[in-house]
Order: sequence, then structure tokens, then C-alpha cells
Amino acid sequence: MGGAGKELRVSKIANGTVIDHISPGKAWIVLRILGITERSDVVISFLMNVPSKKYGKKDVVKIENRELTEEELNKIALVAPDATINIIRNFEIVEKRRVELPEFIEGVVKCSNPGCITNASEPVVPKFRVVSKAPIALRCAYCERITGEEELLSQF
Ligand SMILES: [Zn+2]
Repeated sequence: MGGAGKELRVSKIANGTVIDHISPGKAWIVLRILGITERSDVVISFLMNVPSKKYGKKDVVKIENRELTEEELNKIALVAPDATINIIRNFEIVEKRRVELPEFIEGVVKCSNPGCITNASEPVVPKFRVVSKAPIALRCAYCERITGEEELLSQF
């Protein structure tokens, strides 16, 4: 009590993942990507629109007792390209990394063109070239249609 500084204090987690520097307002989508809903029994802390020196504002999500898969990290990179991932074990950060948007994306999302061969009943895995990172734009390798942020967000 008393003498608390002005810095933002958030309870530390013992084990799990802290996703920091999420683009403001995108924390909900990150949770959706991770399949975390109000019915999940995962313990999370959730901060939105925290002041950030680097980006003005940011969202932060802390997830207890869970580490993320490569596929989850790739999906997060699509909506929060500046996110950093801190893996926490026994209250210590044991690994710190940034999400990374690769040049090519395979199989993570669908093409926005309903007539695309990847949306037909053919066993064709969608492939995209990342033509812009912020805002995100993916060009389909088959039909060349650009899939943008809104169309991606509607898939998560
Ligand atoms: Zn396509």
C-alpha cells in the first residue's frame, strides 16, 4: 500500500505465455485464433489499449499454463505483426521471440475468392504470397485474388 508508482502493474504468471505488443483492439482476435472462449477453463489476463512507447497503444494477453504452436504463432502474425511472445516458466521469461510473417503462407487461411480451386472440393492446399504486412494482404498463388485483413479476420 502507498507509494505505488505510476507504472502499469499486472500480476505475474508462474507458467505460460505473454503475448505483448498486439496491435490495439486485436486481443479478441488473438484469443479467437487460440480457440479461447468464455467456456474455456484457461486462465487469461487481458489488457487493451495500454500506452506503448513504440506503437502508441497496444494490447497484451497473458495465458497461464499454455505455450503456443508454430501454427498459432503464424496466425497471430497475420493480425498482429508486431507481437512479441514471452514464454514464462517458474515466473521467469525463458524465451522471448517475435512473431514472424513468412513470405509465403500455406494452408493457414482460405482464399477469399469463392471460385478459387482451393475452395472447390479439390484437395488443393491454399498458398499465398504476403504482398503487404500492415495492413495484411495475401495474394493467392492459384487465382491471384488478394485477400485482405477484413476477409482474414472473418475466418478467425
Ligand atoms: Zn485463390
